[in-house]
Amino acid sequence: MARLVMKFGGTSVASVERIRNVARHVKREVDAGFEVAVVVSAMSGKTNELVGWVEDASKLHDKREYDAVVASGEQVTSGLLAIALQEIGVPARSWQGWQIPVETSDAHGSARIENIDGSRIVEGFSRKEVAVVAGFQGVHAASGRITTLGRGGSDTSAVAIAAAIHADRCDIYTDVDGVYTTDPRIVPKARRLDRVAFEEMLEMASLGAKVLQVRSVEVAMVHKIKTFVRSSFDDPADPKPGTLICDEEDILEQQVVTGIAFSKDEAQITLRRVADKPGVAAAIFGPLADANINVDMIIQVVSDDQKTTDMTFTVVTADFERAKALLEKHKAEIAFGELQGATDVVKISAIGIGMRSHAGIAARAFKALADKGINIRAITTSEIKFSVLIDKDYTELAVRTLHSLYGLDKA
Ligand code: ASP
Ligand code: MG
Repeated sequence: MARLVMKFGGTSVASVERIRNVARHVKREVDAGFEVAVVVSAMSGKTNELVGWVEDASKLHDKREYDAVVASGEQVTSGLLAIALQEIGVPARSWQGWQIPVETSDAHGSARIENIDGSRIVEGFSRKEVAVVAGFQGVHAASGRITTLGRGGSDTSAVAIAAAIHADRCDIYTDVDGVYTTDPRIVPKARRLDRVAFEEMLEMASLGAKVLQVRSVEVAMVHKIKTFVRSSFDDPADPKPGTLICDEEDILEQQVVTGIAFSKDEAQITLRRVADKPGVAAAIFGPLADANINVDMIIQVVSDDQKTTDMTFTVVTADFERAKALLEKHKAEIAFGELQGATDVVKISAIGIGMRSHAGIAARAFKALADKGINIRAITTSEIKFSVLIDKDYTELAVRTLHSLYGLDKA
């Protein structure tokens, strides 16, 4: 029998009424003959509220207790959905992460899934029972403590459960009807994509598209899980297919550029007048790496004195203060003149597997942005994407410009 994982996000389960609507979506698939495991998020806003309470109780709290508290949101919705399903005649039971179990590392607050035993869920299928799984949570086997997978982690729960029970498909129901060429709130001409390759989706999610947690795409790619992003606000009797995330071989008409992503979560640091000698890059980036601070874009240019060098790079906003403090601490070893920082920047990226086989894609963007008077502060490229760092004020103009440039505007 065909097997399906259906995942519903926070807005889809925001009230008991909406949970009833979710139950109707699930019943449709059960009636169509699928064995179904449903993965749910907490009601929208709930996790934020729980996190707020924990921080209120103590700024420097025990991470294990943070997980004990924030995992509770999903416990509530899993039970409520099981009840709503029973109410319309669909046998169902809830499963907490530790009951399955979903075994994870002990990195509390952002644990990684290590192993999922799908056998108890599959046993439930033989009793014609829908499994309603609390997303976002797991258990660290050795300590027996509850863990959570990081914000947005129930996407990853869903895809990992799909892999564990060998599901034919994983449907991620959310408040949008698929993956778009860019954020439709910024570009009204954004188009819904029918298909996106795993690798493109991975880049889009990493570069700022918020539709899926990055790790969920990694898991889907590794296990080749056909994953749909679709809307829970469709009429349960008349659902739309949404966007399929799949292998690139399954995409017939490949565009050169598939999407434009942007992230305002970037900060720029420039070290002025650094001695230009072997070992400086190591002196700068070594301490940052040791402190688990990820550096993204890096550019090195000759300083205005022509003797030293200026080193510019970006970090995520959350690491900005820590990075600056660390560099000041190592000022003597690195030997730089001055540290300058900016947070009023945005990283705009274009993504497409077609870039592998087409040259000059990024060059066209540089020209188009220059024509609009937009100054580029830094650039990075890789096989299937390029990114530019620009002033935040130009976000909309730059995204719209690139979106039209690569023919993504809807007719
Ligand atoms: N409820 C968790 C969060 O808000 C997990 C999720 O929704 O995916 O981050
Ligand atoms: Mg989410």
